Amino acid sequence: MTTRNEKTNEGKREESDAAKAATSNGPSSDEFWGPDLYPERRGAKVERSWFNLLIGASGRESVDKARCEANVYKCIKNSPIVKLMLAALKSSGCEVDMRRHISCEVCNPIVSGGYDSEFNQVVICQNTVSSASIIQGVLLHELIHMFDFCRNKLDVKNIDHIACTEIRAANLAHCSFISSLIQGHSSFFNIKASHQNCVKNKAKLSIMNVHKVSDEVASAAIERVFTKCYNDLEPIGRRLRRNSEDMPRAYAEAFLYGYEA
Ligand SMILES: [Zn+2]
Repeated sequence: MTTRNEKTNEGKREESDAAKAATSNGPSSDEFWGPDLYPERRGAKVERSWFNLLIGASGRESVDKARCEANVYKCIKNSPIVKLMLAALKSSGCEVDMRRHISCEVCNPIVSGGYDSEFNQVVICQNTVSSASIIQGVLLHELIHMFDFCRNKLDVKNIDHIACTEIRAANLAHCSFISSLIQGHSSFFNIKASHQNCVKNKAKLSIMNVHKVSDEVASAAIERVFTKCYNDLEPIGRRLRRNSEDMPRAYAEAFLYGYEA
């Protein structure tokens, strides 16, 4: 459910250290990852030095929140692909109210966003994502989870369901969009096998970020559902390529899939 913060290599290192700690001697409670990743939710009990540091005396969090909300608003107003997702959600009976369903919050620096199925809310991490283009990618990823939860009766306790929605999010958002954005070129990702590997790797990381399962268990779940979920491009209808006309085109063709644009 989580969008990882992939802005820096440092983030990745922290992430893998955290993952190691969780599998070796980490806390056994299933609730650990949630509050630790998103401490503004459900009153976390875990002591978090990084959180105190971020929330601290600087007052920075209110500046970050205002900027994050302005960027979310910009995406909702201007991004064809975000508008397509919102139209698809509305057509599926899950209309999104920005104030109710999208929340800018301070998160653990290892993540950049998340989808909270209990509250049906997308979390955008105001301290780790700042630019509108990155927020667009995070929003898209999490809105795909919201769509799957709404339309496909996603069972968050079923590892195959989790694997499927993470494959779809990686496929439709991250691997076609964010990676090329960060790496500055997309030719590598045009190679089919590389794209599939990107989706498998990203989905595995996303699963392991929020669920305490081994690499093998996550990989096995991905392999079980990969073909079906990789080819399920609803509601976007195509894999997006950056710097192409795909985003406006997908939005323009939304009516073909039964969504009001
Ligand atoms: Zn996810």
